[in-house]
Amino acid sequence: MNDCLFCKIAAGAIPSKKVYEDEDIFAFHDINPVTPVHFLIIPKLHIPSLVEAELQHVAVLGKMLALSGRLAREQGLPDGFRSIINTGRIGRQEVYHLHMHILGGPQPLGTMIPR
Ligand code: 5GP
Ligand code: ZN
Repeated sequence: MNDCLFCKIAAGAIPSKKVYEDEDIFAFHDINPVTPVHFLIIPKLHIPSLVEAELQHVAVLGKMLALSGRLAREQGLPDGFRSIINTGRIGRQEVYHLHMHILGGPQPLGTMIPR
Protein backbone atom coordinates (compact mmCIF):
# COMPACT_ATOMS: atom_id res chain seq x y z
CA MET A 1 0.00 0.00 0.00
CA ASN A 2 1.18 3.56 -0.58
CA ASP A 3 2.20 5.80 2.27
CA CYS A 4 -0.97 7.91 2.35
CA LEU A 5 -2.67 8.27 5.75
CA PHE A 6 -6.21 8.48 4.32
CA CYS A 7 -5.65 5.54 1.94
CA LYS A 8 -4.69 3.54 5.03
CA ILE A 9 -7.78 4.74 6.93
CA ALA A 10 -10.04 3.88 3.96
CA ALA A 11 -8.48 0.40 3.82
CA GLY A 12 -8.99 -0.11 7.56
CA ALA A 13 -5.21 -0.38 8.13
CA ILE A 14 -5.40 2.61 10.49
CA PRO A 15 -8.44 2.73 12.78
CA SER A 16 -11.02 5.50 12.54
CA LYS A 17 -14.57 6.21 13.69
CA LYS A 18 -16.39 5.23 10.53
CA VAL A 19 -19.47 7.16 9.39
CA TYR A 20 -20.08 5.43 6.05
CA GLU A 21 -18.46 3.16 3.50
CA ASP A 22 -19.27 1.88 0.04
CA GLU A 23 -17.15 0.70 -2.89
CA ASP A 24 -16.15 4.26 -3.84
CA ILE A 25 -16.40 6.36 -0.68
CA PHE A 26 -15.28 6.30 2.95
CA ALA A 27 -16.40 8.75 5.66
CA PHE A 28 -15.04 9.05 9.21
CA HIS A 29 -14.94 11.45 12.12
CA ASP A 30 -12.11 13.96 12.20
CA ILE A 31 -9.58 13.13 14.93
CA ASN A 32 -9.47 16.79 15.97
CA PRO A 33 -13.03 18.10 15.59
CA VAL A 34 -13.46 21.87 15.35
CA THR A 35 -17.27 21.78 15.62
CA PRO A 36 -19.61 19.46 17.58
CA VAL A 37 -19.99 17.32 14.45
CA HIS A 38 -16.96 17.14 12.15
CA PHE A 39 -16.38 14.30 9.74
CA LEU A 40 -14.55 13.79 6.48
CA ILE A 41 -15.78 12.24 3.23
CA ILE A 42 -13.05 10.84 0.98
CA PRO A 43 -12.86 8.90 -2.26
CA LYS A 44 -11.23 5.48 -1.87
CA LEU A 45 -9.26 6.37 -4.98
CA HIS A 46 -6.12 8.31 -4.12
CA ILE A 47 -6.61 11.78 -5.62
CA PRO A 48 -4.15 14.11 -3.84
CA SER A 49 -6.28 17.26 -4.07
CA LEU A 50 -8.71 19.16 -6.27
CA VAL A 51 -5.64 20.37 -8.18
CA GLU A 52 -5.36 16.85 -9.59
CA ALA A 53 -9.10 16.23 -10.04
CA GLU A 54 -10.14 15.46 -13.64
CA LEU A 55 -13.32 14.75 -15.53
CA GLN A 56 -12.66 11.03 -15.05
CA HIS A 57 -13.40 11.64 -11.34
CA VAL A 58 -16.84 13.17 -11.91
CA ALA A 59 -18.74 10.13 -10.66
CA VAL A 60 -16.90 9.77 -7.35
CA LEU A 61 -16.79 13.51 -6.69
CA GLY A 62 -20.49 13.76 -7.42
CA LYS A 63 -21.15 10.87 -5.09
CA MET A 64 -19.32 12.63 -2.26
CA LEU A 65 -21.54 15.69 -2.67
CA ALA A 66 -24.70 13.71 -3.23
CA LEU A 67 -24.17 11.68 -0.05
CA SER A 68 -23.21 14.60 2.17
CA GLY A 69 -26.73 15.65 3.12
CA ARG A 70 -27.81 12.16 4.07
CA LEU A 71 -24.67 11.51 6.11
CA ALA A 72 -24.98 14.88 7.82
CA ARG A 73 -28.60 14.14 8.77
CA GLU A 74 -27.57 10.75 10.10
CA GLN A 75 -24.87 12.43 12.21
CA GLY A 76 -27.37 14.84 13.78
CA LEU A 77 -27.26 17.81 11.39
CA PRO A 78 -30.82 18.13 10.03
CA ASP A 79 -30.70 21.89 9.47
CA GLY A 80 -27.56 22.31 7.44
CA PHE A 81 -23.82 22.20 7.69
CA ARG A 82 -20.70 23.57 6.06
CA SER A 83 -18.62 21.59 3.59
CA ILE A 84 -15.00 22.59 3.09
CA ILE A 85 -12.35 21.24 0.76
CA ASN A 86 -8.95 22.73 1.54
CA THR A 87 -6.75 22.57 -1.53
CA GLY A 88 -2.99 22.84 -1.79
CA ARG A 89 -0.61 25.21 -0.09
CA ILE A 90 -2.84 28.24 -0.56
CA GLY A 91 -5.86 26.37 0.82
CA ARG A 92 -3.73 25.12 3.74
CA GLN A 93 -4.40 21.47 2.96
CA GLU A 94 -2.61 19.22 5.46
CA VAL A 95 -3.42 15.71 4.25
CA TYR A 96 -2.85 15.21 0.53
CA HIS A 97 -5.70 12.81 -0.14
CA LEU A 98 -8.72 14.79 -1.31
CA HIS A 99 -11.30 15.09 1.47
CA MET A 100 -14.43 17.10 2.17
CA HIS A 101 -14.96 18.33 5.72
CA ILE A 102 -18.57 18.27 6.97
CA LEU A 103 -18.96 20.67 9.88
CA GLY A 104 -21.91 21.58 12.04
CA GLY A 105 -23.67 21.51 15.34
CA PRO A 106 -26.73 22.90 17.09
CA GLN A 107 -25.71 26.55 16.57
CA PRO A 108 -25.02 28.39 13.32
CA LEU A 109 -21.33 28.43 12.48
CA GLY A 110 -19.19 31.58 12.34
CA THR A 111 -18.57 33.55 9.19
CA MET A 112 -16.79 31.57 6.56
CA ILE A 113 -13.46 33.40 6.46
CA PRO A 114 -12.64 36.19 8.93
CA ARG A 115 -11.92 39.41 7.05
P1 5GP B 1 -6.93 19.43 5.86
O1 5GP B 1 -6.24 20.53 6.63
O2 5GP B 1 -5.94 18.63 5.04
O3 5GP B 1 -8.11 19.90 5.07
O4 5GP B 1 -7.57 18.50 6.96
C1 5GP B 1 -7.00 17.31 7.43
C2 5GP B 1 -7.86 16.85 8.57
O5 5GP B 1 -7.52 15.50 8.86
C3 5GP B 1 -7.66 17.64 9.86
O6 5GP B 1 -8.90 18.22 10.27
C4 5GP B 1 -7.15 16.60 10.85
O7 5GP B 1 -7.67 16.78 12.15
C5 5GP B 1 -7.60 15.29 10.23
N1 5GP B 1 -6.75 14.17 10.54
C6 5GP B 1 -5.39 14.14 10.45
N2 5GP B 1 -4.91 12.94 10.79
C7 5GP B 1 -6.00 12.17 11.10
C8 5GP B 1 -6.15 10.81 11.53
O8 5GP B 1 -5.19 10.06 11.70
N3 5GP B 1 -7.43 10.38 11.76
C9 5GP B 1 -8.51 11.19 11.58
N4 5GP B 1 -9.72 10.66 11.85
N5 5GP B 1 -8.40 12.47 11.17
C10 5GP B 1 -7.15 12.96 10.94
ZN1 ZN C 1 -4.48 8.41 -0.39
